Amino acid sequence: MPARHQITPNYRMDDLGLSAKERNAARYRLEDGLEAWGQRWELLGHTVRCQHCHAMQRASKAPLPFSHADGCANTGEFAQHPWRDLAQLLEQLPKVGG
Ligand SMILES: [Zn+2]
Repeated sequence: MPARHQITPNYRMDDLGLSAKERNAARYRLEDGLEAWGQRWELLGHTVRCQHCHAMQRASKAPLPFSHADGCANTGEFAQHPWRDLAQLLEQLPKVGG
């Protein structure tokens, strides 16, 4: 098992003493990322749906590669793990009270 970069559980970008400019850049990264995610995917209850082929995946199947319909244009490296991608985006949310 390769060594992984360790991040303490309550690590947040606001704790790093980022400048207002850096926080602004981080906010745009989050919002741009969510915008891009929403162009590919849609959340429907406990499932995520491909905006292109309308194939769906339950949250409990998140570790599996997304199974698109034949001919779907939403494929490739960035269209295999929508739940993981969403989770990574949400990790960037500013902390409550921050
Ligand atoms: Zn698809």
